[in-house]
Parts: sequence; C-alpha cells; structure tokens
Amino acid sequence: MNIILMGPPGAGKGTQAAYIKKEFPIPHISTGDMFREAVQNGTPMGLEAKKYMDAGELVPDQVTIGIVEDRLSMPDCSPGFLLDGFPRTIVQAEALDEVLKKLGKKLDVALNISVPEDVLTARMVGRVFCTSCKTVYNTIFNPTTIAGVCDKCGGKLEQRNDDKAETVKNRIKVYNEQTQPLLAYYAQQGNLVTVDGQKDPREVFQDVRALLERLG
Ligand SMILES: [Zn+2]
Repeated sequence: MNIILMGPPGAGKGTQAAYIKKEFPIPHISTGDMFREAVQNGTPMGLEAKKYMDAGELVPDQVTIGIVEDRLSMPDCSPGFLLDGFPRTIVQAEALDEVLKKLGKKLDVALNISVPEDVLTARMVGRVFCTSCKTVYNTIFNPTTIAGVCDKCGGKLEQRNDDKAETVKNRIKVYNEQTQPLLAYYAQQGNLVTVDGQKDPREVFQDVRALLERLG
C-alpha cells in the first residue's frame, strides 16, 4: 500500500500518520526524519544535502529526490510506505512518479485531509503548550480551567513561534500556492481521495481506516 499523506498545515497529518502506523505494517516516512537519517548514515545523497544545509541553503530538488529514492528502495518499504511532507510541488510530484516507475512501484492513493482555512487558522493560532510537561491545549477547542495555566501540573502555557498568527497565515499561503495544485495533479491520475479533517481525529481515522482497508 503506497500512500502519500497530504493536507494543509494544521490538518492533523501527524496524528493520522501515527494512527495509520499503529494499524498498518508500513513505515511512516516524513521528510524531516528521512533527511536526518541520510545525513547520519552518511549516504552520498545525505552528504550532498548536508553541504546545502550547513550553508543554510535550501536543498535542491535533485538531492531531495535522491534521498527519497534511497529511502523507498529500502526493504521495509516493500509492503508499502506512507510518505509525509513530500512531494510539496508539481516538479517534485513528477520526479516522484519517475522514481516509483524506476523502482517498479505504483502509488495507490494520495490521501488528502481537508480542513477549511478558517478552521485551520483557529486550530493553530489557539494552540498552546505547557512549558513544563509539554501537554498541548487549544484556547478555543480544548481550553484549560484557568487561562494560561496547565491543568495537569500548573505550568505556564506558551504558544509556539510557528503558531503565531502571522506565521500561520504565511504557512497557509505557501501551501495554497505550491502544494494545493498537487490535488489537481493526483485527481487527474485518479489517485486523490479526500477525507473530512474537521471531525474529531479518531473519527477522521475511522474514515481513513475504512479507505485503506478497501485498498487492501
Ligand atoms: Zn503541564
């Protein structure tokens, strides 16, 4: 079962990936982890990527694709994979198609978790975490009894820089410009399936599970 996990920032991709990993025997491959592993293992592509990262530059698509190819060639990917955070652009999606063809694999589904923009914004801007025990709350959807104070340990609550209103707006804008067009790309291939990400994460997973079970 070869899956790409898609959806805007704040749609709950990480949560769904964790659920999927628990019930389906396929590795969850996030771009961040994949890069860290490649660099750690000192693969040729990993070393190449490190050069750019050390210089504070963006890793070029060619190198990223090389890392993806290396990762998808590993034996644990033979029953399938859940790719998360890649591709982000049409160019990367086309390159991924080439890699899959080369490896004799086929994409089964581009799983899109859909959440309207205003809900995403509210989710992210409302998100706060406890500075001592790291519990995550939401000032709108899951508030603490006393504002700014952790229910569990009485610690002080803070917002991640990533979740500040301006940053959130920008992340959604980048997604709309670069990644949203991928939905049409995969729809055209007949691989796009969209689930409603507005529901409770467990309910979203019921839909995801039903879908993946159908795919076998
Ligand atoms: Zn706490």
